[in-house]
Amino acid sequence: MADCIFCRIVKGELPAQIVYETESVIAFRDLHAQAPTHVLVIPRRHIATLNDLMPEDASLMGEMVLAAQAVAHQEGIADQGYRTIMNCNLAGGQTVYHIHLHVLGGRQMTWPPG
Ligand code: 5GP
Ligand code: ZN
Repeated sequence: MADCIFCRIVKGELPAQIVYETESVIAFRDLHAQAPTHVLVIPRRHIATLNDLMPEDASLMGEMVLAAQAVAHQEGIADQGYRTIMNCNLAGGQTVYHIHLHVLGGRQMTWPPG
């Protein structure tokens, strides 16, 4: 998707602080961090929302979760704890329509989320 900002980050057309990458996913720091660690894990391939996932994307989603775990270890927040979030569509708070798993940590999270 030429006009998708996350696709442009994948292609290297937009700068991002990439902290972890594999053949199928990349993880980079959120531009407006909401916690000391705030990293977004995304698939390299464009998928707009959680609703667009197909059964054949199951292993890709597993890779995203494992990448989140790797980022948490790398950031030193795995043992103390962290939060992973995927927002879907307007009411879910999604603003960028290329799926991403937020990894937040380094402070106490509260519940319920806003
Ligand atoms: P959403 O609201 O869709 O769940 O999350 C989108 C996230 O992407 C937001 O936390 C926002 O700060 C982040 N974001 C938006 N544009 C950019 C960008 O150009 N670069 C980076 N690194 N993060 C971005
Ligand atoms: Zn995209």
